[in-house]
Amino acid sequence: MIVGQEEVAARLYKIGAGAASVGAIHILSLLLSWFVETDGGFTVPLTGYVFPESLILSLLGGLLAGVGLLAGYLVKQVGLTKLLIGLFAVVGGLLSLSSPLYIYLVRILSLNIRGYPDIGMFAAVFTGIVQLGVGALALLTPTRREVIPTTRPIPAAAQPDLFEVAQPAPATRRPVAPTPQQPPRASTTRFLPASDIEEATCSICYEPVQKEEAVKCSNCGTIYHRGCMEAWVGLNSTCPNCKAIVIE
Ligand SMILES: [Zn+2]
Ligand SMILES: [Zn+2]
Repeated sequence: MIVGQEEVAARLYKIGAGAASVGAIHILSLLLSWFVETDGGFTVPLTGYVFPESLILSLLGGLLAGVGLLAGYLVKQVGLTKLLIGLFAVVGGLLSLSSPLYIYLVRILSLNIRGYPDIGMFAAVFTGIVQLGVGALALLTPTRREVIPTTRPIPAAAQPDLFEVAQPAPATRRPVAPTPQQPPRASTTRFLPASDIEEATCSICYEPVQKEEAVKCSNCGTIYHRGCMEAWVGLNSTCPNCKAIVIE
């Protein structure tokens, strides 16, 4: 089954909308507690946005998916839509994922802040991974031929490669008659002596035919040995060339 270009575009927009939603949720995770500091007997929750790096990376990462969806919607080529939505979501996902990883590995561990990661950091990591996955899904969406989506039905003649799967085999592939000459159609025939021939080849055994032993199909005029023809008609009751039924 061939999937239409509009259908592919609609699917890409859905994937892009999913990536944008995940990006928005990722940005919201900045409002949650990312790390609980336990220095000096106090437990202090640190929200995601208190770190400038996470604020920038997560905002950028989350927004990129939305930007990709918008850009993908504005271009009128399915292949380009796929690239924009997919690449923006993947790059955004990488930024989103790098935000909590950077905060945890560089800021918290290197500064030796005691405590433990909190729900916000897990949410940020999770949404970053999902955003990456959704972007990859967009990039892996097959677009077949990457042409401009059109609302008009594509004429079969203009796009033969798209439709050849659904069409029956062309008429030229049908088996043709074994001899080159195309005989006139008739339902019946009889074999007559053909003593007037100069030289001929039997169309059954491909040996030369002497005029005393030659017979001719009255329908298509093909020459055979009498013996060959009688053996053939005994089996098939038709002229081997034109398939007319032998009535005598
Ligand atoms: Zn023969
Ligand atoms: Zn014939």
